[in-house]
Amino acid sequence: MGTIVLYPAPAMGHLISMVELGKFIIKHHPSYSITVLTLTNSFNTGSITSYVRHISATIPAITFHHLPDIPLDLDAYPSTEAVIFDLIGRSIHNVAAALGSISPIALVIDLFCTSAMAAAGTLGIPVYYFITSGACALVEILYFPTLDRDYPGSFRDMNRLIYSPGMPPIPSAEMPTPVLDRNSTDYSDFLLLSNYLPKSAGIIVNTFDSMEPKPIKAIRDGLCVQGQPTPPLYCIGPLLADGGRGDGDGNDECLKWLDLQPRGSVVYLCFGSEGVFSCDQLKEIAKGLEMSGHRFLWVVRRPPNIITNKEDWMSLLLPDGFLERTKDKGIVVKDWAPQVNVLSHESIGGFVTHCGWNSVLEATRAGVPMVAWPLYAEQKVNKIVMVEEMKMALPVEVSEDGKVAAVEVERRVRQLMDSEEGRMVREVVKGKKVDAARAMSDDGSSRVALSMLVESWQPTKALMTRECLF
Ligand code: UDP
Repeated sequence: MGTIVLYPAPAMGHLISMVELGKFIIKHHPSYSITVLTLTNSFNTGSITSYVRHISATIPAITFHHLPDIPLDLDAYPSTEAVIFDLIGRSIHNVAAALGSISPIALVIDLFCTSAMAAAGTLGIPVYYFITSGACALVEILYFPTLDRDYPGSFRDMNRLIYSPGMPPIPSAEMPTPVLDRNSTDYSDFLLLSNYLPKSAGIIVNTFDSMEPKPIKAIRDGLCVQGQPTPPLYCIGPLLADGGRGDGDGNDECLKWLDLQPRGSVVYLCFGSEGVFSCDQLKEIAKGLEMSGHRFLWVVRRPPNIITNKEDWMSLLLPDGFLERTKDKGIVVKDWAPQVNVLSHESIGGFVTHCGWNSVLEATRAGVPMVAWPLYAEQKVNKIVMVEEMKMALPVEVSEDGKVAAVEVERRVRQLMDSEEGRMVREVVKGKKVDAARAMSDDGSSRVALSMLVESWQPTKALMTRECLF
């Protein structure tokens, strides 16, 4: 029936989500084939290469087309977002050449890959966006041109509430990191892509209808895009990688430790692929965990300013004697834990998370209640929706010095594990777990959305889409 080309941003989280989309398509519509365009550079080569090798070996219906390397001076960019935008922008001719040789019936792009729209347009290929975050983040992107018009100045300095359709009010300083400073290149890049989204043939989101009903309704009702129609919205999540017991990288130790703990007794703390804290903040977390008296599994990444040749850098960062005193209660894992397996382990009773969207969906699928401690990107927006609308998480309060104090860590861990508020959050998340499974079942909302998406690729529908677009 044809090839669908997927073009993810060159970052692991985005690539994994996009490949899960490809797997979902071919599982239910096996007559399609999938080609994924990959871009590597020195900042991402290692992880992407080994992941691509693994998928190529296990799923033959998904092939990878590696775009030619572009030399970059990584030190010359103000942010990771800026590196990614530039790498993608400079690959535009290579994308056009790839699309010309593959001749797909549709191109699905990551938000960051907007520059590929022009190449697909010249070839008459309909373009769909795939949003790897939730519908709440999508509202803020679609509505951004209106916010840009209505709120002059930088969100960072405004000190007021920002109102968007279907969303609770967001304190201006908690808007997504790239749009905080009106004078930054990230701000203008995001404004540009916000203007392009409505020109696509459809927007696919990694969420499900009953996860975020208000933002989804606001988008479908056309309240977020001004002056032009909103493309069809396809909520086809949760699309998540399977864990599979034992990833063979040495972190299986923590799963063995979990096997020995009582059911629902352990708090898991992990802050995504990039979350790092200062030494002072790490010490506050350690003290808070110890004071809470609860069992814990904590993933700690080395702070960037700590340079040491010592293999046990962790003991240098944590309070004296902490590891020894808590050895019967907790385990600290360096850098990376097999999160999907951890969250689905029956000993886990709560999750302190940075609110990255994959982590939120993984906790939902596993039915684990959360404490929301957002750090970067759109995570503060996610946190507000998770706490105020979905009621799936308790918030942490940040002190005036920008840190979360030990007493606050202790309070929130106890609240999550012991209190009536924690019990209520747990009940809500259990319900959402059932909803997530239902959405992915035969007649579930995500499966229906996938069928509608695939139907839009049929020759007659696709022709109409092209005529609308060009
Ligand atoms: N992850 C993991 N182990 C870790 C940290 C992260 O397996 O120690 C995985 C996690 O399961 C999720 C992804 O990395 O699938 C992180 O994605 P998310 O959207 O939550 O946050 P990001 O890293 O993009 O900020």
